[in-house]
Amino acid sequence: MTLAPESSTTDHLADLGSTIDRLRSTVLDGTTRSLDWRETQLDGVIAFAKDHTDALIAAMNEDLGRPEIEGWLADVGSSITEAQHVRKNFRKWAKPRRAKIPIVAQPGSAKVIPEPLGVALIIAPWNYPVNLVLEPLVAAIAAGNAVVVKPSELAPATSGLIARELPKYLDERAFAIIEGGIETSTALLEQRFDHIFFTGSTNVGRIVMRAAAEHLTPVILELGGKSPVVVADDADLEVAANRIAWGKTLNAGQTCIAPDYVLVTEKNRDALVDKLADAWGEFYGADPEASPDFGRIINERHHKRLLGLLSDQTPVVGGEHDSATKYIAPTIVVDPPLDSALMTEEIFGPILPIITVEDTFDAIGFINERPKPLALYVFSTNNDTVEAVLGRTSSGGACVNHTLLHFTPSDLPFGGVGPSGMGRYHGKSGFEALSNMKGVLRKPIFGESNIAYPPYTERKVNLLRKVT
Ligand code: NAD
Repeated sequence: MTLAPESSTTDHLADLGSTIDRLRSTVLDGTTRSLDWRETQLDGVIAFAKDHTDALIAAMNEDLGRPEIEGWLADVGSSITEAQHVRKNFRKWAKPRRAKIPIVAQPGSAKVIPEPLGVALIIAPWNYPVNLVLEPLVAAIAAGNAVVVKPSELAPATSGLIARELPKYLDERAFAIIEGGIETSTALLEQRFDHIFFTGSTNVGRIVMRAAAEHLTPVILELGGKSPVVVADDADLEVAANRIAWGKTLNAGQTCIAPDYVLVTEKNRDALVDKLADAWGEFYGADPEASPDFGRIINERHHKRLLGLLSDQTPVVGGEHDSATKYIAPTIVVDPPLDSALMTEEIFGPILPIITVEDTFDAIGFINERPKPLALYVFSTNNDTVEAVLGRTSSGGACVNHTLLHFTPSDLPFGGVGPSGMGRYHGKSGFEALSNMKGVLRKPIFGESNIAYPPYTERKVNLLRKVT
């Protein structure tokens, strides 16, 4: 089922309550508990992504100037891979698991029985507008939930395509795609859901969590932040530069786990800057604006915001921009003031500050003085250095000697920590996060014992203190 965006009317918002009631009745009548039903819906998601691959890539190109291969790798292809992994494994995850029981509860048996939470709400951002709809949806389906999806209004071509076509592949009794912006999100958040999966900015994450608290609804918050890169003195600079440059300018830097800034000592700093510039030269040629492989900033507001971050800074690489085409060149600023917006706000664009530190421990201190990031990257050829950075910092996830790739394995739980988010998904972790992992203990009728019942005689107390 699809409800219209709030372009000219908000009538569709009036019916939200009845839409959610309808979806909830599909959960309550047992439809979504069937593993065969879930498999059919997962097949539907896979078929939708496969049938509409070209159209989805074209829509993302229209919304974001996203190059074809990035649309495939980061959105459509990765969603299909995740959906296939979940389809293959979810029956195993859905099986009740035996649990040990203590002597006081014996004789008996115990099991963890995953069950659906109910109706889940997915609110998605615009930057990976296919992946960040489909991967949460896959987790919610595998766990047996009905789902309301709200794609981002800032990627309208992609949102429209999803709203038009995806419902044709799903059981309409259990799914609704509701397009719209803040007003729609706000109206949705007033409703009672059984789970909310939000991907977006930290500020809106707070709004979502406040609304969820009203109904005590569990949340996954996939938020943003400033993900640091530590380039140790013993790093392979050539490799580090290529991989940082790639992670920073994929989707023109509009990636939640993009390297936000780099910490490096004076020894390597200037060479790293040169190699980063060389890497971008290799990727995009002398004029990145002319390259079909370099994306654009999503809208005028974000373009202005990014230029604002640069307003008091002197780039050593890049800095060129064009408001008409929402272009900003891959840009490096060395040692900006630490209290400037460039170093206090998530950048979310192709601007890379490089900060000079004394050594790796100085870098660790720098990271620990700031909010816990969504991702952390460390480049080093020495395992002790890597372990020191990983073992003395906290981040949602981390990747050693590369960037972004820890998002890709279905077996790695993905998520933030502290202000960068809470909850995990991908593969089994997503299944469990969207399930109620119900603990059930069964007792036989025989074997009744009054040992734990009052009156608490001395004999019972002594015995219980021995065996429990
Ligand atoms: P956003 O928070 O502005 O919007 C996300 C969603 O929330 C959209 O669907 C939007 O309609 C809705 N929304 C916006 N304002 C709202 C409000 N006041 N009340 C209720 N709903 C509202 O984020 P964005 O600009 O779409 O995406 C960029 C942000 O998302 C960045 O901070 C980025 O780091 C983060 N992000 C995180 C992840 C992750 O996996 N952790 C992935 C992608 C993006």
